[in-house]
Amino acid sequence: MNSMLEFNEALEKVLKHVRRLLPVKLSIAESLGFVLAEEIKTKEPVPLFDSSSVDGYAVRLQDIHNASDDHPVHLAMQSTVSAGFAPPQLLKPFHTIKVMTGAVLPKKADAVVMKELVKAKGETLVFTSEIREGANLRRRGEEFGKGDIVFSKGTNVTPPVIGMCATLGLASLKVYRKPRVAMVITGNELRSPSSQLRRGQVRDSNSYALAAALKSAGITPSLVLQVRDNKEMLSKAFARALKKADVVISAGGVSVGDFDYVKQVLSDLRVKTIFWRVAMKPGKPNYFGTRGKKLVFGLPGNPVSAMVSLETLVMPALRKIMGIHFSEALHQDAVIEFDLKRNGGRTEFVRAFASRSDDGRYTVKPAVGQGSHMVGGLAGANCLIVVPKERENIVKGDTVSIRFLSWNRL
Ligand code: AMP
Ligand code: MG
Repeated sequence: MNSMLEFNEALEKVLKHVRRLLPVKLSIAESLGFVLAEEIKTKEPVPLFDSSSVDGYAVRLQDIHNASDDHPVHLAMQSTVSAGFAPPQLLKPFHTIKVMTGAVLPKKADAVVMKELVKAKGETLVFTSEIREGANLRRRGEEFGKGDIVFSKGTNVTPPVIGMCATLGLASLKVYRKPRVAMVITGNELRSPSSQLRRGQVRDSNSYALAAALKSAGITPSLVLQVRDNKEMLSKAFARALKKADVVISAGGVSVGDFDYVKQVLSDLRVKTIFWRVAMKPGKPNYFGTRGKKLVFGLPGNPVSAMVSLETLVMPALRKIMGIHFSEALHQDAVIEFDLKRNGGRTEFVRAFASRSDDGRYTVKPAVGQGSHMVGGLAGANCLIVVPKERENIVKGDTVSIRFLSWNRL
């Protein structure tokens, strides 16, 4: 258990242990940010009926055939139809029916002439241009036929997906349930942001930054527990977290310090260790375990290590639970604008800022403050340069692989 796992192997092991949660039915209003666990098909053609796409006059083509400025055509006004009402009559020869946008097209009409192009003369309307068949109409079934597949399983529910489902007459959707997440934040030295500090104390940033990162991915932690480095207290906190959540994320107390009790406590709570220690920088002491279907991530306490570990090891698992396919768009090649000394041996995640140049390529600069305790450095970054373990020193102008931070996409 003391040997270090490669980063890629660690991620693979995490993803292998991810189990889907049973789908839930949510009202369309609640389903934003979830992923469809069902295929969506139409029960009727969309649109359902022929209608006018403008405010104007429904006509029979043959009646205004050859209309021009020199040959104005006069049609008699028959009636008016607004959106929401079925037109009671057929359009009579040499007549026109005034229609509003969305009004059902009267029977026998072939097109609608925009109101702006028609002059009214008492009860007579004057047409001075020809029109093609179907002009200014929305046809029944022109977007989807009956029984067409509109969305496949795995589609992200975005605002227009919600709009489309409403259009199709779906008031609720079957989606993958989001995991319930509990956090256990450890450390005797930690105080709340509003505290006056005594010497040796620091303010707790992980409770807030980790919760915020989860929130930006659409997951609000249901429980955040701040616990001292005390076995009994930790045990109580983890027991509660395991009871309440599908995924438990702790920060701190997982390294080799005398008061790092997290692994011991989890083992006593029958959490099976899948790995401890990953060849990554930052984030070496990362722990991952399971109890049944529940996942437990023990992140290192250093704030940057915790955030980078959340982003690289935990978020992929949460996304998989939610049915979200990993977006390749997060990864890019970029030209590095500085030299990077390597010690090797670990996959490195360098906090950096990438920008797109005029030729569409990315260039990348380091963020100031690379220490794993320097949250400012991470706040100034929009991406991580991912340096594989075997890669040698990197010099300015080399191409490197970057991944955008999920909370800070370009
Ligand atoms: P640990 O992983 O518990 O050994 O903590 C490593 C370093 O991160 C120590 O300097 C801790 O004081 C610091 N640290 C741990 N947890 C937090 C936190 N929630 N907020 C800020 N710093 C932390
Ligand atoms: Mg600690």
